[in-house]
Amino acid sequence: MDTRLLDILVCPLCKGPLKYDKDAQELICAPDRLAYPIRDGIPIMWAEEARDLNAAPGAAADTSAGTSAGSSAGPAA
Ligand SMILES: [Zn+2]
Repeated sequence: MDTRLLDILVCPLCKGPLKYDKDAQELICAPDRLAYPIRDGIPIMWAEEARDLNAAPGAAADTSAGTSAGSSAGPAA
């Protein structure tokens, strides 16, 4: 793929610059954590086709113990 395309290619969601992953043949949007595939040298700039980097395999034991306090948030009478 012509890397000069990167100058004009932006993320369709946040309009931010993309990072070209040469090995994976993907265009990475870091803020959105999305990877747009490149098929036959053509970047597929659809959010529906993009790979969610947050759902990467191997990240199973994530920090789920965030809010340990009871959720007793009600209107103060
Ligand atoms: Zn983006």
